[in-house]
Amino acid sequence: MHSPDCIFCKIIAGTIPGQKVFESDRVLAFRDIAPAAPVHILIIPKKHIPSMNDLAAEDAAVIGEIMLAAQQLAREEGIAESGYRLINNCGKEGGQVVYHIHFHLLGGRPLGELLARQAL
Ligand code: 5GP
Ligand code: ZN
Repeated sequence: MHSPDCIFCKIIAGTIPGQKVFESDRVLAFRDIAPAAPVHILIIPKKHIPSMNDLAAEDAAVIGEIMLAAQQLAREEGIAESGYRLINNCGKEGGQVVYHIHFHLLGGRPLGELLARQAL
């Protein structure tokens, strides 16, 4: 279930520290080490799923739990009303760096446009 070289699996296992803000049987959330906004939380399944491309039908429930954890965390962090963004980066051009699927919960300041505009 855990992948020995995966940094997020190590945070789940407690072998490297993480500032945990939510934990259930199947989901963990912790603060991003390099926050891009006043609230920047990473929400992950405890099961090592590398990316969106690796999701299977059996993972649907845990992804639903992640969405509900995001909703709860937004409320607890005081950004439910002001607004927030939930992001998954997938693969090289999606900007994924850590290959344990995760959702970024970002808020606490105006986040601007969805993407920096560049020539296509
Ligand atoms: P990605 O680019 O893969 O979507 O996002 C990976 C995120 O993980 C980045 O925002 C990065 O700051 C964060 N990150 C990388 N290593 C660690 C770590 O050891 N601890 C925590 N809390 N966050 C990390
Ligand atoms: Zn992992």
